Amino acid sequence: MMAQPQQPITSAFTPLVKRNNAPYLQVNKVWKHYGNFAALKDVSLEIKDGEFVCFLGPSGCGKTTLLRAIAGLDPQSRGEIVQGGQTISLLPPEQRDFGIVFQSYALFPNLTVAKNIAYGLRSLKLSRNQIEAKVTELLNTIGLSDMAYKYPAQLSGGQQQRIALARALATEPSLLLLDEPLSALDARVRLHLRQEIRKLQRKLGITTIMVTHDQEEALAMADRIVVMNHGIVEQVGTPEEVYRRPINAFVANFVGTMNLLPVKVSGNKQVRLQERLINCRRYKKQQTAAAWLAFRPEVAAIKPAGLHGDDKHYEYFNGTVLHTEFMGNFLRIEVNLSDFQQSVQVDVSSQHTDLTLCMAGHQVSLAVPVNELQVFDRYDNSAATGDAGHSAVATDEVAA
Ligand code: ADP
Ligand code: MG
Repeated sequence: MMAQPQQPITSAFTPLVKRNNAPYLQVNKVWKHYGNFAALKDVSLEIKDGEFVCFLGPSGCGKTTLLRAIAGLDPQSRGEIVQGGQTISLLPPEQRDFGIVFQSYALFPNLTVAKNIAYGLRSLKLSRNQIEAKVTELLNTIGLSDMAYKYPAQLSGGQQQRIALARALATEPSLLLLDEPLSALDARVRLHLRQEIRKLQRKLGITTIMVTHDQEEALAMADRIVVMNHGIVEQVGTPEEVYRRPINAFVANFVGTMNLLPVKVSGNKQVRLQERLINCRRYKKQQTAAAWLAFRPEVAAIKPAGLHGDDKHYEYFNGTVLHTEFMGNFLRIEVNLSDFQQSVQVDVSSQHTDLTLCMAGHQVSLAVPVNELQVFDRYDNSAATGDAGHSAVATDEVAA
């Protein structure tokens, strides 16, 4: 689909000329209602020209709804969408400038690969030669030159999805929309296609939005990630920002693994875990407010029991190893914090660890750097301090 069908198709992909610093796509206060249910609640965001952005969040959080609103396939109930300086909120999809790929390959089973790719070109009044040249070029781009006369059923899932991508790119849209394009593929193909999509996107300079519920995929592919939950945007940031400095417990827990311990705020750099005061990163909240003390599995070091040092840059916890998974390059160890009846996960390099320390039943000491101990608001008091057996994962904060 394309806004300006009168525009001639050029023989080669021309990388986008950078317009200016204005955002290429703006979503302004967009709401989407299905009856009384709000699938999007006041969503605003900006996407730059040439950026690769992932909408990331649990199933049902509104990712597809937002993508379809941008495409005009299922328009917003309120709010505005601006693309390349033009308000497009009320335009039908055929007057918008985008290509789209869905999770299911959605190729026409009765058409050859070549005809599938050429499908969007038919309305552009091109000569047969022009169409053929374009299809050949696209088949080369996706590395499937010898597949032109096959039918979709003769192709693997990964190949079909590459054809779907070629079809979406055929009209040279300025915006590429991908809705979980890799989810139906098996792991190996998925990893490979990740890199291919990203390479192609960089080469074409095409502004791209990809919906995914897979945080690893988003971290690996995106320039920026939009983390969504229950129809709102929780955080927008680079993969590193979202991972290293999550804005709240939901993001912390959804992106990567985070140990979360229920605590009470005790000062602006101190919390109370049951009876013990623990130093942490700065956190401004009224004293005694319920919070989560959080750290990533890879920031904790595992030491022999009793080793407690008096380095004020670390907090030490007594623990017992519950079990260890060998992951190849690292070990994933579940440790029960003996003084608090809380279990946490610790990842350590298999190169640098005394493996005997990591055997189930072993008494250990965990050293966690104070500046890696983050604190997040905790709204739900049900998982109160001392709640024995409360898991390391804040399940009350995570949607299904
Ligand atoms: P995601 O893509 O993040 O998994 P969706 O955007 O598809 O989620 O859906 C967001 C919410 O809106 C879900 O609760 C879903 O059930 C609801 N929803 C989506 N489409 C419709 C529809 N056509 N009618 C009613 N509810 C819908
Ligand atoms: Mg979806």
